[in-house]
Amino acid sequence: MSQYVPPSPQATQKAGLSGLKIALIIVAAVVLVVIVPCVGIMVAVAIPSFLRAREISRRNACQENLSRVDGAKQQWALDNNQTSPSDAPTWAELVANGKYLHSSPVCPSGGTYQLNDMSETPSCSLSAEPPFPHEFPGMIQINGAGLQQDLSPESP
Ligand SMILES: [Zn+2]
Repeated sequence: MSQYVPPSPQATQKAGLSGLKIALIIVAAVVLVVIVPCVGIMVAVAIPSFLRAREISRRNACQENLSRVDGAKQQWALDNNQTSPSDAPTWAELVANGKYLHSSPVCPSGGTYQLNDMSETPSCSLSAEPPFPHEFPGMIQINGAGLQQDLSPESP
């Protein structure tokens, strides 16, 4: 016949759940079920817009470079009496300390620049890259007829 041995007070405390532990478990469950998916949804929404904003910023920086290179080409043509549309400067004629550009412009997205002749604006190799093509600023595509100067006023 076995004898009943009452559990020690420490054993009773270990086996049972105190009110604080139950509250912690409930809080942890709420965090797992509600807050973690909400944060996941917010991150899933935010990341694409961050990436989009970064690409737009890089495109804008590239267009600023193209605009500076075009200004340097125009100034080179004036200074050197280059009046033919087929005249074309070289990078060495444009880029140097004391010349038209202090340093070679670098496309922030890794594109490469073409100077082109005086009948064309300089271009980036990513000029047809969707969704944010690095086109020369102010140029728009009209019915597939090539690039045309956009003369419409800037919207505020
Ligand atoms: Zn570019």
